[in-house]
Amino acid sequence: MTLPTIDFLGYPVINLGQKNIDKLIKYFLSSPTPSLFTVINANKLFLADKHTRLKKIMQNSDALLPEQAVVIGSRWLGTPLAGRISGIEFMEYVLEHAEERGYTIFLYGAKEEVGQRLIEKYRHKFPKIKILDYVHGFFADNNILLERINQAQPDFLFVALGSPKQEYWMEENRHKINAKIMVGVGGSFDVLSGVKKRAPEWTQHGFEWLYRALQDWHRLDLWKRYLITNPYFVYRVLQYKFSGRSV
Ligand code: UDP
Repeated sequence: MTLPTIDFLGYPVINLGQKNIDKLIKYFLSSPTPSLFTVINANKLFLADKHTRLKKIMQNSDALLPEQAVVIGSRWLGTPLAGRISGIEFMEYVLEHAEERGYTIFLYGAKEEVGQRLIEKYRHKFPKIKILDYVHGFFADNNILLERINQAQPDFLFVALGSPKQEYWMEENRHKINAKIMVGVGGSFDVLSGVKKRAPEWTQHGFEWLYRALQDWHRLDLWKRYLITNPYFVYRVLQYKFSGRSV
């Protein structure tokens, strides 16, 4: 069995939607080799056009998860996706079902206090959850980090270093890592820990970025990011639609 994908501007994105996250998990947990997941959204498309290395990692991921912009773009192109699976939703799904299903989890990334709050929150909610270990995202000794991951041998390794750092780290280390599924989830630890607010439901159909930028209104890099990458995304989709070219 292979999982359904749709070609989006030259990227094979998973065509399952949130309702089928379970299928995705079952498929890759039963795979004999470790799997690497990445996420595609407007910012990632922009970065990947600039950095061929990132582009290749995304294109060769075992699963490339589409966020909301890609769902909208896929409709414009006449090849609509079943729905999004954003990084944060995927991670939340795993955390919410981990206790009941016995999933084991390793967390790598974000600031120490953010990671600790995340663990506290989920241990409080699910006392038997198996979050085996946590290493913050500014930890300097990669060998020790790898040792800790391999000692834990988790089902899920969540990597939250921001892009493209997390994708480069996963690519460089994937063959040294004993984890069934590793996935780059960007700022998800900050949100799932409660340190940053979750975008409300109404924004999750294409305006999550605006909520995020308003929350961190003083971060000029975020405004710059969205003001450049969102129009760029529209341009890339329309260019593809009218010229049939992916690059
Ligand atoms: N981060 C980290 N190590 C680093 C740089 C960043 O752990 O060297 C963390 C940072 O604390 C934050 C996340 O990575 O939790 C980056 O979040 P951002 O929202 O910028 O991710 P993106 O939108 O790029 O996916």
